[in-house]
Amino acid sequence: MVSGADKLRTIRKALAEAGVFDPAFEAKEIIREYTGRPMPLTGDITEAEEKAIDEAVSRRLEGEPLQYIFGKWEFYGLPFLVGEGVLIPRPETELLVDIAAKRLGKGSTVLDLFSGTGCIPISIAKTVGAKCYAVELYDAAFGYLTRNIALNGADVTAVQADALDGTLFGDLRFDAIFANPPYVTEAEMRELPANVRREPETALFGGRDGLDPYRAMIPAWAGRLKDNGFMAVETGETQGEAVSAIMRENGLLPEIVRDYSGHDRVVVGERPGGNM
Ligand code: GLN
Repeated sequence: MVSGADKLRTIRKALAEAGVFDPAFEAKEIIREYTGRPMPLTGDITEAEEKAIDEAVSRRLEGEPLQYIFGKWEFYGLPFLVGEGVLIPRPETELLVDIAAKRLGKGSTVLDLFSGTGCIPISIAKTVGAKCYAVELYDAAFGYLTRNIALNGADVTAVQADALDGTLFGDLRFDAIFANPPYVTEAEMRELPANVRREPETALFGGRDGLDPYRAMIPAWAGRLKDNGFMAVETGETQGEAVSAIMRENGLLPEIVRDYSGHDRVVVGERPGGNM
């Protein structure tokens, strides 16, 4: 028998020695996941719990992201299944859902491109009561998308297709279009931490300057917004001005929104009303 507190200390040290970015956080998450008990942990852990913890730690030490080991992760207070082949939902992406909650009402028609797990459209459908459409190209990610829609009982229609195909969904027009496209630059790809390297390159790499998906997606979809509709896209923290320029070239009025760490994170582009 080993005490929970001792186990926490041991695995925190092992994670720190392996260069994990936030060993204290990950150690607590692992203990919480495999004991199901709240922190701070008192008393001993069982042998079965210890075995599960040790297995998770050894996978983590081999570079696998914590979220893939757990097979699930929370976003906007909702559960999402995750694993190899799909981008892990990041907390900064919740900003897109906050924007939806502020600007959209029940019954809005919303499109999400490059959906991955579906964390954006599922959270918007649940929070706003919007009718959401989600587009994802890759098989593994599309599997997670459909399972997460079912898991959350969300009103999201998923389509497996290329998000750059602006002819999808016939003549439907949208109150809002969201996207967290791949935007990591060629130089940044060479510096990715080990755990991020396990995530699909197709969800990360946005071409030499990271902007290729915006150059293709914004012209493809800007015309599918209703008058006074908007497009809200996540960007890397140095990409806000460049993405704003692409929006302007396509008739949208852009505004850069910072995330909760103070970094440029989202560009919202409004389509002006028709009869002004
Ligand atoms: N924010 C992610 C990262 O830095 C990138 C996600 C994306 O390209 N959309 O790892």
